[in-house]
Amino acid sequence: MQFDIRNFLQSAKTPYATQFSADLSAADWDGFRVPDPLECAFTAHPTQEGAVMTLHVKANIEAECARCLAPVHESYDFTREYLVRMRDLDDIDFELPLDDQGQLDLRELAYQELIFEVPRVLLCSPDCQGLCPICGKRKAEGCACQVAAEAAPVDARLSILKQLLS
Ligand SMILES: [Zn+2]
Ligand SMILES: [Zn+2]
Repeated sequence: MQFDIRNFLQSAKTPYATQFSADLSAADWDGFRVPDPLECAFTAHPTQEGAVMTLHVKANIEAECARCLAPVHESYDFTREYLVRMRDLDDIDFELPLDDQGQLDLRELAYQELIFEVPRVLLCSPDCQGLCPICGKRKAEGCACQVAAEAAPVDARLSILKQLLS
């Protein structure tokens, strides 16, 4: 899915809008999977200065909880806005993905924005207790080790610290 951004900036008088889906299931996602195609909507509006563009992305992701490895399913639905001027296209620091012909690669843009949107650490719930370091079971499910740990006497160093603090 390409958008001729240079041509749009040069000559567009009316807004442009398109919708597309992007199957990125085989792309390299860092730490999660995207089994379903992304549902995207893209718009561009000519302005005095250049153009205002928006990209709306809807995506479902799958991952494992970073603490307990339980399956995590999350949905994302977000919109990004970009202001682009003709001179930006020749700037080597221009951050939007252009292909060999200088066209905006909307699929690549959707990919980059989803990577940016998804947190680096995914959890099954914000207060996930993780796995028991002793038996490897999920702490939320409870295990005998926790009961034993709670019953164990407080560590000697910890009791010294407590005395210092009081
Ligand atoms: Zn978890
Ligand atoms: Zn345990």
